[in-house]
Amino acid sequence: MIVLLKPNTSNEQVANFENWLRSMQLQVHESRGETHTILGLVGDTTKVDIELIKALDIVEDVKRIQEPFKNANRKFHPDDTVIDINGSKIGGGNFALIAGPCSVESEEQICLVARLVKQAGATMLRGGAFKPRTSPYAFQGMREEGIRLLLEAKAETGLPIVTEIMDLSQLPLFENVDVIQVGARNMQNFELLKELGKTQKPILLKRALAGTMQELLMSAEYIMAGGNENVILCERGIRTFETYTRNTLDISAVPMLKSLSHLPVIVDPSHGTGVAKLVRPMALSAAAAGADGLIIEVHNDPAHAKCDGPQSLTPDAFAELSDTISKLRSAIQL
Ligand code: PEP
Ligand code: MN
Repeated sequence: MIVLLKPNTSNEQVANFENWLRSMQLQVHESRGETHTILGLVGDTTKVDIELIKALDIVEDVKRIQEPFKNANRKFHPDDTVIDINGSKIGGGNFALIAGPCSVESEEQICLVARLVKQAGATMLRGGAFKPRTSPYAFQGMREEGIRLLLEAKAETGLPIVTEIMDLSQLPLFENVDVIQVGARNMQNFELLKELGKTQKPILLKRALAGTMQELLMSAEYIMAGGNENVILCERGIRTFETYTRNTLDISAVPMLKSLSHLPVIVDPSHGTGVAKLVRPMALSAAAAGADGLIIEVHNDPAHAKCDGPQSLTPDAFAELSDTISKLRSAIQL
């Protein structure tokens, strides 16, 4: 349920009203816009008397929200959410360019790629330390050592780091990680989402291989219901009957998710296509569709990458793409 307050409601009136709502075991989410304050109510609102609230002289309007996601709903929070990651912002017109290898392979590799992507305009560094691989015999990532090397690359370049958590037991290792990625395979690991909701870390939440947009938003809701509102949604392609591409990248998810939710939405054209030559056109399409950022795999030597070489850009190709994205964004005034 959302309650729209009249423009001249005083802070004291807002506070009294909120206390009264909380006394009915409701959680109150306040969103202050330029003229109006909106209160989003979460909990069992079936017993709330809408007519009574409508009749209050500080209330302009009351509406029930049909969608099952509340905190993530744009109706709760009409303005875009802007997440500040150590000074690097995403959302509300701030575009994040996250780049780096699929997995951290060595100190030289991650530091070299970090320097090159930073030079090319990346705003954050990605790199997997814990890797979800289809085969148990494939490279599983450098794990704890991989996180240590990412922190080294961060210290060297100043780039905030994004890396994937696969299990709750790994959480203590993520203390100095700037953005925790929840991969497609874990989008509905509800216990993990609940624990991440108790932290204040920005969470990059990827759409599951067969996840609907509503399921993605409900997973964001799990994190937000715990009190962590720093969620970034990521479209990374879904499983279809097509085989020329690794997944089918759903660009329509960008404007749809952005209309449904105030959370930043980014796109991963690397996992979304699985084909390096498709990354550039799909990255540009995503930017043109209004994405708040991109996460792109970049490797210094894609042919010898331990993971996802065929979809990785070289640092030069990434630099060209980064430049074209800036030109595209200013040409269409995004
Ligand atoms: C990744 O980004 O490294 C990754 C494994 O992605 P996804 O969860 O989208 O497959
Ligand atoms: Mn990968």
